[in-house]
Amino acid sequence: MGIFAAASELLELSTKLHRLIPPRTGEVDHTLELREERFRHLLRYARDNSPFYQARLGKIDVDTCALEDLPTLSKAEMMANLDNVFTDRTLRRSEIEDFIADHANLGVYFKGRYALCHTSGSQGQPALVVQDKHAIITSFAAQFARGNKVKRKFLPHIGRLVNPARMVIITQRPGFYPSSTFFNYFPRVAAPYLKLQRMSVFDPVEEIVQRLNDFQPTFITGYTSSLEFLAREQEAGRLKLREGGKLEQMNSMSEPLPADVAERIEKAFGVHVTNSYSMAECMALSCGCPVCRGSHLNSDLAILEVVDGNNRPVPNGTPGAKVLLTNLYNFVQPIIRYEIDDIVTMSAKPCACGNLLPLIESVRGRAKDQLWIEIDGRSRELPIYVFLAALDNETDLAEHQILQTGVNTFVLRAAPQEGKQLLSERLRNYVMQSLASEGLADVVKLDVEIVDRILPDKSGKVRRAKNLIGPPPDGSPPTPQNASRVVA
Ligand SMILES: [Zn+2]
Repeated sequence: MGIFAAASELLELSTKLHRLIPPRTGEVDHTLELREERFRHLLRYARDNSPFYQARLGKIDVDTCALEDLPTLSKAEMMANLDNVFTDRTLRRSEIEDFIADHANLGVYFKGRYALCHTSGSQGQPALVVQDKHAIITSFAAQFARGNKVKRKFLPHIGRLVNPARMVIITQRPGFYPSSTFFNYFPRVAAPYLKLQRMSVFDPVEEIVQRLNDFQPTFITGYTSSLEFLAREQEAGRLKLREGGKLEQMNSMSEPLPADVAERIEKAFGVHVTNSYSMAECMALSCGCPVCRGSHLNSDLAILEVVDGNNRPVPNGTPGAKVLLTNLYNFVQPIIRYEIDDIVTMSAKPCACGNLLPLIESVRGRAKDQLWIEIDGRSRELPIYVFLAALDNETDLAEHQILQTGVNTFVLRAAPQEGKQLLSERLRNYVMQSLASEGLADVVKLDVEIVDRILPDKSGKVRRAKNLIGPPPDGSPPTPQNASRVVA
């Protein structure tokens, strides 16, 4: 990179960072004005530059229309029309697919300007997401300004220059998947302020522990299952991060973070675990709260509508059936009212941390991975806590996974801690007692499998609850319960 390009990137990063410092109690909140301004600009830009949006928005007055007047967008629709969605008319889906098929291109900007990533295929068809360098810098700036306890004055803070923050990202091997994007496109101009190391859950355990002990990170970001695994290594005395005294914060992403798991990680390391909710289609959607388990919506960078099955808004405090996402900073691939089947609850109360940005109280896995049972011909959700509460009794347990294999039929897979043994009959009794206390002992059939290890799926994540049969046949989402129990 030339010196002028580097200087302008640094200037852009620092300017955005200062602008993104969140409004706090007692301050004037300009977020909604910014949101409105960017929303109108996005609509005009999409209509004028993307043939797909020209057809969709051509008859709508984009300067005055309500958000609800705009059509929603499914992933399948976006992918089927991708070449026409792009506002850069030279972009072609086929060329993008060829580019990401070659891992030598990791971290390389496509056509010198575009960062590429794809969503995980485990939730159906993968989507491709193209963003330009400005969008990438916005994502980083949001993370630095709002997500980490990095000192607020980023550039002038000489302390960080001498003693930069040290961050570890523990996910999977490099690729074009969303959580890798942060590393792939990490702006080189930010390197003096943040030392970054990447680790994979597929690396040998001893190697991960050794590298962490040597590096002594200030921040660790990873899948919940990787943080949980680190907590076990810390408890066993092999990992020594607490002793090093450098660790300030951990951040869980991409997987649900149940309260008991978060507490275990916090107890092991003595630091707060933040919980962020974002996706490839909007990496800067939210930043984990440093005080609670929720995540603050970056409502100047994105619009998140929590809606029921018919796209009608649900009140704060109530879980929706899905969300509609509008990304306000990606102008290359406009994403407007894009449907994502996450079950999100916005908080009805202001957050105790003082940040005025709206608080995402909880996010539960995609509807597809919800467990459900059928009683008297009606389906209802089977909350995972009936299993989790039971498993708290088994102190020799290292890992578990719950599979729904049929209507009212479940398999609990359990792996013991090193050198320990588990008895399947005992585990089964714990769970059956828990089910009995919910009046479900006669409804649920349960098998227990003892295994050596629960392997992550090919995306590197361990899914604690896996529904192998899909949602109930009537198609309606099961009755939500205990929304606050699990946060993603
Ligand atoms: Zn907060």
